[in-house]
Amino acid sequence: MKDAKVRLYVEHPLGEGQTVPLERDQAHYLFGVMRLGTGDAVALFNGRDGEWRAEVVEAAKRRGVLVCRARTQPVRMPPDLWLIFAPIKKARTDFIVEKAAEMGAARILPVQTHYTNSERVRQDRLQAHAVEAAEQCGGTFVPEVCDLQRLDRVLADWPEGRQLMFCDESEAGGSSALSGVVASKAAREGQGAGPWAILIGPEGGFSDAERDRLRALPFAHVVSLGPRILRADTAAVAAMTLWQMALGDWR
Ligand code: SAH
Repeated sequence: MKDAKVRLYVEHPLGEGQTVPLERDQAHYLFGVMRLGTGDAVALFNGRDGEWRAEVVEAAKRRGVLVCRARTQPVRMPPDLWLIFAPIKKARTDFIVEKAAEMGAARILPVQTHYTNSERVRQDRLQAHAVEAAEQCGGTFVPEVCDLQRLDRVLADWPEGRQLMFCDESEAGGSSALSGVVASKAAREGQGAGPWAILIGPEGGFSDAERDRLRALPFAHVVSLGPRILRADTAAVAAMTLWQMALGDWR
């Protein structure tokens, strides 16, 4: 069996000798698009059992069966980081979800804020983007994409012990760099970062009422992303980079 050229996310359990039936669109992708056939190898992961090299044992147009032969990677969980963001235009929202999955977010939460332009998101489409991103970046974990919720609800149900990196554009050029947060708190005590979330606002930014509420929360840390105002999609990537470097798995 040659090395796997395709990585595929499946829901099915994976393990030594485990048979994995394919769904119709997966069979179409492997055999119709990627031109694989029986005997070829595929890398499978399901977010729980690591990555497995599997062999194609049955290949038809709309059906197929794989068998797991060897585990090639254990499951690697990202740090417990949520990305909370206000959805923007469709393509840019897709970009944020894709990048968040690549950069190692554990959960992705679109939220409606006072100035959010979109009233709804297609959760299933965004989840599919997260799956695709994990397939291509070698990840063994797929972050859950939640349905659109109101920011005030998310804050009202805030889980105990989770810190919030509040990216506030009114701090642009200010001195609230993440390094200050890191130098101050738990990170210095030699523990892991613990649970965190990053919050990125919409194109219109945060309202004064939202800003006041967020600033008053004991778990919130106001952070500037430098002297320029970034677009929300840029801000999401920049904030995740900073966090991963300071507190996450890039250290
Ligand atoms: N229209 C707003 C900008 C919104 S930018 C204005 O002109 O003020 C979209 C989001 O990206 C912001 O809500 C914030 O979360 C983040 N962001 C962009 N630039 C930032 C910066 N320099 N510091 C902190 N957050 C920033």
